[in-house]
Amino acid sequence: MGLLSWWRSSANPLPEPAPRPEPQGQNHYLLIILDSCRFDSLLAANPKHLLKLGSLEKRWSYASWTAPAHYNLLMGLLPHTSPTHVFASEHYKQEYLRYNERLGTRQPIEFKHLLPHLYLPTLLKHQLGYTTHAMVSLPVLNPSTLLNRDFDSYRLMPRHNDMAAMVEQLRFEPDRPSFYLLNVGETHYPYALPDEDPSLWPRISGVNGVLKRLDEGEEAGIPFFNSAQLEELRQRQIEAVRYLDGVFEQLFDLVPKNTYITVTADHGELFGEGGYFGHGPIQHEKVLEVPFIEGKIR
Ligand SMILES: [Zn+2]
Repeated sequence: MGLLSWWRSSANPLPEPAPRPEPQGQNHYLLIILDSCRFDSLLAANPKHLLKLGSLEKRWSYASWTAPAHYNLLMGLLPHTSPTHVFASEHYKQEYLRYNERLGTRQPIEFKHLLPHLYLPTLLKHQLGYTTHAMVSLPVLNPSTLLNRDFDSYRLMPRHNDMAAMVEQLRFEPDRPSFYLLNVGETHYPYALPDEDPSLWPRISGVNGVLKRLDEGEEAGIPFFNSAQLEELRQRQIEAVRYLDGVFEQLFDLVPKNTYITVTADHGELFGEGGYFGHGPIQHEKVLEVPFIEGKIR
């Protein structure tokens, strides 16, 4: 018997999709990622509506750019507290126990319930009876990526900087809890608000923009931002957080009372420290410093 016919005769038919279990969580859960939002940008913005959700913590991302950071977040591992004198496995175990409060689960969930997939949407959908949704701003997280697994819906938003458009599309069923991942892009370079004319955005290269190349003589690549430009960029990120605070006010009014919300960032951002700008291939503590706020809507 050839290999292919052996495979055909012995392979099991695809299993029927399992019916979704009865809901095991009492809370809707929103995980909101302010892309690239550095801890001290949020602190400087002092967003009073957002800060009503809970106390602001400085935490550290496991990764310095968007894709691995979101994979880690969707494994259920939120930015960490960098605890000393503790084994990583013990920290992970404690972190997963936090989901009992976030989800309001009837039966306690532990790390073992994530096995073997190690993916929060899988646990939420197939074991806890949640509907699972993602709305993302950054194309690197688009629906064709590996991240889109066990989501009932997963959308790349038409614009990279419009959290209000996401809030408009949130739907909550009365008899089944929902999980939403929202990847918010206003805080990502170029830190543009939805009503800002794109021709006025700062640009790393190109002929348009308020921060267009000043030195036209170079030929060996794009010149780096000067310190005034870097400070303007930092102020733009702070301003983006101030704007988003109004969107959070709307969000908190709109969601059902039994909604738990975590707001954090996938990584930080460099505005000239150590000679760096942005995030990604950067070894600097500011690229890992992120804000962390969570709480239940009451
Ligand atoms: Zn990012």
